[in-house]
Parts: sequence; structure tokens; C-alpha cells
Amino acid sequence: MTPDERVAQQLPELKLDALIVSALPNVRYLCGFTGSNALLIVSREGATLFTDPRYTIRAAQESNARVEVVKGSLFAAALKLIKKKKWKKLGFEANRIPYGSYAELDKGLPSKSSLHPVNGLVEHQRMVKTPEEIARIRESVLTNSRAFDSAVKQLKQSMTETDLAAELEYQMRLHGAEKPAFDTIVAAGPNSALPHAQPSNEVLGNNRLLLIDMGAMKAGYASDMTRMLHLGKPGQKARKLYKAVLEAQLAGISAVRENTTAGAVDRSTRQILKAHGYEEFFVHSTGHGLGLEIHEPPRLGRKDKTVLKAGMVVTIEPGVYMEGFGGIRIEDTVLVTKTGCEILTPTPKELIVA
Ligand code: ZN
Ligand code: ZN
Repeated sequence: MTPDERVAQQLPELKLDALIVSALPNVRYLCGFTGSNALLIVSREGATLFTDPRYTIRAAQESNARVEVVKGSLFAAALKLIKKKKWKKLGFEANRIPYGSYAELDKGLPSKSSLHPVNGLVEHQRMVKTPEEIARIRESVLTNSRAFDSAVKQLKQSMTETDLAAELEYQMRLHGAEKPAFDTIVAAGPNSALPHAQPSNEVLGNNRLLLIDMGAMKAGYASDMTRMLHLGKPGQKARKLYKAVLEAQLAGISAVRENTTAGAVDRSTRQILKAHGYEEFFVHSTGHGLGLEIHEPPRLGRKDKTVLKAGMVVTIEPGVYMEGFGGIRIEDTVLVTKTGCEILTPTPKELIVA
């Protein structure tokens, strides 16, 4: 069954005649179309893709849905189809539709039809990856790690954070990525205490930590990895912190397996950091799913009850962040299996002295 057929199959249960899919990654997942302007309606009779004339050729090549090329508003065209088909109950992606587009739909809808919010239906389906998706994520992860290796060879303490971020992203492209999956994080010294630091003109320098968090987008699929370097020989504090975070990260990896909950994996890393006295410095969740997007469900957070299934791909990335000193995070991308997980990220995890 194709992904759009699986959605269509759920429509009767949801008491819907059709689902209006406005989130582009969901459109891509359901019909294969990669363009930047698209709307998909999945009904019990099949799927219709709406896009504009820039994409006439690409839509025909990529999409397995019926294609309607539209000049002007895609939502107006969708409304025409809704009227023609006399669909009554229409689901829409409440969390992923611009308000203006929602208003346009609502205003143009025939009086006998109604809109019903549906959240996370396609995202839920996307959590368990197909073998083809897993192959693409593997490739993305490898590309990312190769880019890291190449860029680290060029690293000099006199570079700025921005210089190194540029080198990392350049190497991603050279190794076949379309683009970075997110803005590359390069954070030296105290800057690494900001979990989502922005590279600045700060010189990397000496005698301090260096955090690199990077991901590639390859054939539409994301990867995500964080590695720690130390500029010069690491002192006792850095080594102690690093050891604790690594222990937590390995505990997280050990906890991943089919039928365990996302929350249980989070607790396993938190427990280790607590035992080392660092719990208060771990300010985010243990990880997240990834695929067509860099952040996808499940979230490996304390309260997340999602049951992990073989074929899910998640990151394991505990960290500790100390203001004024720096932060340490170690992140791998792993594939959930029946008996545990496979670590996709090949890059070694020792603290690299640069
Ligand atoms: Zn991540
Ligand atoms: Zn990351």
C-alpha cells in the first residue's frame, strides 16, 4: 500500500470524505512531489496534487497523484474540486496551515461542507520509516560524517566559528548533500553553553571546548550529529563532564528498543546525569525523530508515551550546559530495531583534541 492509500484507508474511521494536506513534507511523503508550492487532497478515490505552472514538468515526473496545475490560489482550485465531488467532511492539518489559507478555505466552502481539524495523522504515519527511507537516512548520515571528517582536517585554532561552519557546510555539499538540514552549530568555549548557539566571529582559540552540531539533507532526508572537540589539551573539568555525558548517551542508546517508550529512553539518560550531579544542567529532551524533516515525532522527552517501533529513526543527544564554562552534547542518529537499535552515525565519540 502506498502512503496516500494508507491515509485514504483511515478516512472512514475519521468520518472524513477527504484530507487536505498543506504541510509540504507531508505532501512529499504522500505523493513524491518535491516542489515548494503544493497542496494535496487525499480522498477515498485517490489523491489530487495542486501546484503552479513552474512545476508542470516536475509534478508529472515525481507525483503519483493526479496533478492539477493551477494559476493563482491552490486553495481556490481545491475548493472547486470539493464542490465538484460534493465532499462534505473535510479534514485539514490544523497545526500546519497558514491562517490566511484556512480563512480562504472556510470562506469558500459550500454550505453543506465542513472543516475538521486533524493533527499529526501523516506525521504519525511517517514515524516508522520504509526500507527506502532508511536507506536514504543512512546515506545522509554517512554524507554528514564524511563532511565532518573533511572539515575537521582543515580546522585551525585561528579560525572563527563562522569560518568552520562554512567549511562544514561546504564539505556537506562536496560530499553530495543538497543543503544542511539546519543551521550548523559551531560553538567555542562559553558559547557552547547555549544549546542552540549561532556561529559568530569568535575565534575558536585555545584551552576550551568546541561543540559542532551538524546535519545534512540528502535525497530529501536529514541527518543529525553532535561531536565535541577540545581546543588544546582538555583539563580535568572538561574530561569529567565529557565522561558523564558519554555515559548518559550510551545509556540512552542501550535503552532504545522496540516497545519501550520514548519517555523511558529520556529517563535513562537523565538518571545517569543525575547520578553525576548534572541533572539541572540538562535542559532539553534526549532526542527526536528525523526523516524528511530534522525534527519529527517522536520526541524523546520525559513525558512522551510514544511506544518505539522498529523502523523509527531517532537521535540520542543528552547534554550538559554550564554558563561561563561551556556545554557538552554528544548526538548520534539511531535506527530502532526489534532487539535494540543500530547506531547509524559512524563517527567515533572520543573527545577530539584539536
Ligand atoms: Zn538533534
Ligand atoms: Zn543536532
